This record gives sequence, structure tokens and C-alpha cells, in this order.
Amino acid sequence: MKPANTALSRYGATIFETMSQLARETNAINLGQGFPEGCEPREIVERAAKALLEESNQYPSMMGLPALRQAVVAHDRDFYGLELDWQSETLVVSGGTEALAASLLALIDPRDEVVLIEPVYDTYLPLIQLAGGVAKIVRLSPPEWRLPLDELAAAFSDRTKLILFNSPMNPTAKVFSRAELEAIAALAIKFDVYAICDEVYEHLVFDGDTHIPLITLPGMRDRTIRIGSAGKTFSLTGWKVGYIVAAPPLIERIVRAHQFLVFTTPPNLQSAVAYGLAKDRAFFTDFTATMQAKRDRLIGGLEASGFTAAPCPGTYFVNVDIDSVGFNGDDAAFCREIIETAGVAAIPISAFYASAPETRFARFCFAKPDEMLDEASARLKRRFG
Ligand code: PMP
Ligand code: GLN
Repeated sequence: MKPANTALSRYGATIFETMSQLARETNAINLGQGFPEGCEPREIVERAAKALLEESNQYPSMMGLPALRQAVVAHDRDFYGLELDWQSETLVVSGGTEALAASLLALIDPRDEVVLIEPVYDTYLPLIQLAGGVAKIVRLSPPEWRLPLDELAAAFSDRTKLILFNSPMNPTAKVFSRAELEAIAALAIKFDVYAICDEVYEHLVFDGDTHIPLITLPGMRDRTIRIGSAGKTFSLTGWKVGYIVAAPPLIERIVRAHQFLVFTTPPNLQSAVAYGLAKDRAFFTDFTATMQAKRDRLIGGLEASGFTAAPCPGTYFVNVDIDSVGFNGDDAAFCREIIETAGVAAIPISAFYASAPETRFARFCFAKPDEMLDEASARLKRRFG
């Protein structure tokens, strides 16, 4: 048989699929792959059920339902003071994953350089390679996950097409500061490049802090692609409903890729997400507060077993340093071992690196029912406490 596509054939199954499969086989508590179990808002699910029965089940416009596009505009005006035109500056896509694929395939030509920040979410590098782009990777330094601004500046050149990053950031839980965003914006403007901002965790910023979209910074409005996902905002990861906002010429380019990738997204789910986005402020602040309480609950449990947790200002992931319990081996070995000996699944952070890191962290997802978090903590305590 002739070989498969070289960009893709170097990759096996994703770490999330692998660990979830292992968790299923061993009946472990799955705090690995990030899916917010037991957190789904019932009224939004009911709204989708109603839409399935009472609304169209045919292809909607490839741009998305007007109701959802208008809801995205209202949401972004409310939360960030962004003024967007729903017809030319929004696009509905099949999840953050398709948003990334369509944006990267729309903009990258072979040999274009793309600046990435490592640890890097698993989808980014394969898609850049598929488009023929060349990744320039800047590594954050743990445990504060500081962005080295000199190295960031050195990664940019006349060959740079775009920077792609994620804030709040999976897997580090880092929330980029305004100063860091300003430094990124200054480089994007200096080198005249695009910025793709994966902001799927925008409503998971804790301790009274707020999310700052890069697109709101001076000089960034026309060069930034902002990605959101109902999977994260409404704890409905299986729905795969995402949205992109960007200036009209960027949306036009991205649509050219979107129309050949999936073309459109289930209309009934779009309808229910439009309903969700129109919820009042209290809905979103309650969501953030609930997740913050879960963060504190799991960190408390992990600390009781002797783990040191890294700071967790955002996302629904907390990282623990495996050195803190004296584990002798790398993070991948640690995650395999705790599935077997404690019955708890986590994700090794080394999976988010293009080349081996010096870090030894395991990532636990806390978007789970409290009883599940408590049981996982108890199991880890029996093993390490
Ligand atoms: N970006 C990041 C950083 C993510 O963590 C995820 C999913 N967990 C996605 C994108 C993909 O989002 P979706 O499930 O909406 O495709
Ligand atoms: N983004 C989720 C995580 O980080 C997983 C999504 C997936 O499996 N593709 O756990």
C-alpha cells in the first residue's frame, strides 16, 4: 500500500482518546479527558429537544443560524464591549476543533511560519503541518508558566503568517495577563501577522479576574480570529457547536475552508446554544463560581495526598507536580500507574510538547460531580497519602 499523508501518519490516537479508553477498560474515575460531566444545563438540553421536534432538520446556512450569530454578537458586546456585525463578522462552526482547522487551513500556505506557545493543545501542530506550515515554538516556564518575551520576539520574522495561542490555556490553566497580551499584540502588529485566539475557556477565569480577548486590544480588531465553543461555555462537549468572530475579510477566507470541511452544523443544537448565550449574567457567574468551587474541592483532595498543585487561575484543569509525591518515573508512567493502582485517570502534560519537556506534571479535570471528585481524592489518598 502507498503511504498515507505524512503530516498525519506520524500521529497515533490522541492522549485524550487513549486515556479515556484505558479508563473505560479499567473502570477508573476519568479525570483525564476534559469533559464536564453532570454540569449540563437542563433547560438548554430541553431547548434542543424542542428544536429537534419543532424546527428544521435540514441544512441551515453554512454561516450558521441568524439567531445564533446574533446571540454571539450580543454576548461579545455584553462581556467585552465588542461591536460586531453579525452578517459579516460571525461564523458558526462544528466546535472549537473545526474553528481551528478552518482558520489554519484558510490562512497557511506551505512554508509559512506559525508561532505557537508550548505546552501546545494537541490539535494545533498536526493541522499546521497538514497545511504545510512551519511551527516556531516558544516554551513557557513552569510552574508559573511565564511567557519569555525575548524568546517570543525571536520567534517572529518576515516569514511569520500568524500566532496561535489559547487563553485561558489548556493544559497549564494559565490566563494570559494584559501585559502579555500587549506584548503579543505589539509583535503581531510589527510583523503584520494574524492572531488566532482559542478562547474556548473564556468563562472559566477564577478569583474575580476576567477574560480579555486579544481582539479588543488596540490594532488587533482586523487581524484577530476569536474562537468560542458551546462545548466549554455550556458543558456540552458532545454537541460540537463553536463560533468564530473576526473582521469580514477574515471570515470570508475562513468560510472557504469551512464549506469544504463540514459545511454546516446541526441547526437544532445551534438554536439551543443561541438560547443559552442569551442567558443573563447570573447564569455565567454561577457557572464560573460552581467550577471554582470544584477546583478548590479537588485541589484540597489532592493536597491531602501530598500533591503540590500548580496555580489554577482558569480552565477546568489542575496540574500536580508528580515530584511532590516522590514518584519515580515520568508523567506518562505516573498516569498509567495511577489508573492501575488508584483507579483514577489523568493526562500527562508531556503529551502537549513537540519535544520532551523537563516538566513532570499530571493534569486532572475537575468539571465533574462533587462525589466523583471526592472519590478520586480518596482513592489517591489510599495510594499516596
Ligand atoms: N481548544 C482547546 C484548548 C480545547 O481544550 C478544546 C477541547 N477541549 C478545543 C479547542 C476543542 O473544542 P471543541 O470540543 O468545541 O471542538
Ligand atoms: N480538549 C479536551 C481535553 O483537553 C479533549 C478534547 C478531545 O478529546 N479532543 O481534555
